[in-house]
Amino acid sequence: MAEKISVQNLVKKFGNNTVLNDISVSINEGEVVCIIGPSGSGKSTFLRCLNRLEEPTSGDIVIDGAHLMDKNTNINLVRQHIGMVFQHFNLFPHLSVLENIILAPMDLKGETRDEAEKNAIRLLDMVGLADKKDAKPDSLSGGQKQRVAIARALAMNPDIMLFDEPTSALDPEMVGDVLNVMKDLAKQGMTMVIVTHEMGFAKEVADRVLFTDGGKILEDATPKEIFENPQNERTKDFLNKVL
Ligand code: ADP
Ligand code: MG
Repeated sequence: MAEKISVQNLVKKFGNNTVLNDISVSINEGEVVCIIGPSGSGKSTFLRCLNRLEEPTSGDIVIDGAHLMDKNTNINLVRQHIGMVFQHFNLFPHLSVLENIILAPMDLKGETRDEAEKNAIRLLDMVGLADKKDAKPDSLSGGQKQRVAIARALAMNPDIMLFDEPTSALDPEMVGDVLNVMKDLAKQGMTMVIVTHEMGFAKEVADRVLFTDGGKILEDATPKEIFENPQNERTKDFLNKVL
């Protein structure tokens, strides 16, 4: 399988605080990788480094052959291929659902309104919200907002999707609908990196689970190995607390 994301000796410091301490990992096309670990272990920082929302202190990140730290790399072009979904949906409140979704494809990819709307409606259908296209985000539930945020990210036709705790801000009854959309995406072969506390989802959907702590990936294995037979003491401790 083709390598999609290669992270080599990634270090990220905030002042004296080394948040990512020499991380190397490779992710193949179509793989679904879940990242678990204690709060403050650098999960969000790692994800944000993957599209250079956060500037690495040292190391290299290669996405589809493009070296992110190379001055000649057009980072905006790389970012167009990477969708990101956050814990807090970050929708534009003054725009309708449809307008939220068509904005970037029209502005950044030069799609006509017609093309962008057609695609948006297809995506809204996919996330189960076709009837909400004219609604304003404030009138939606958290779970609906998050599904719009996923549709918005997909509208750029990305080939990598990054999720940072996409269900952590949701009421429990909303979580399933969002996870189901993510499962569908995984089935369609999307390369996905997902920071999550949903261990059931990780078990079921992930090809690999990374356990991070203290700025390191302490374990990188299949969900079966991680959840049934964790090797690292800190993985065991963490799982005992959350499961
Ligand atoms: P996680 O997502 O695993 O909870 P984060 O990546 O958010 O962890 O944070 C890891 C560490 O980096 C924390 O100690 C946090 O305080 C620190 N940190 C994150 N972002 C910044 C920032 N912009 N400036 C300074 N410190 C930060
Ligand atoms: Mg985080």
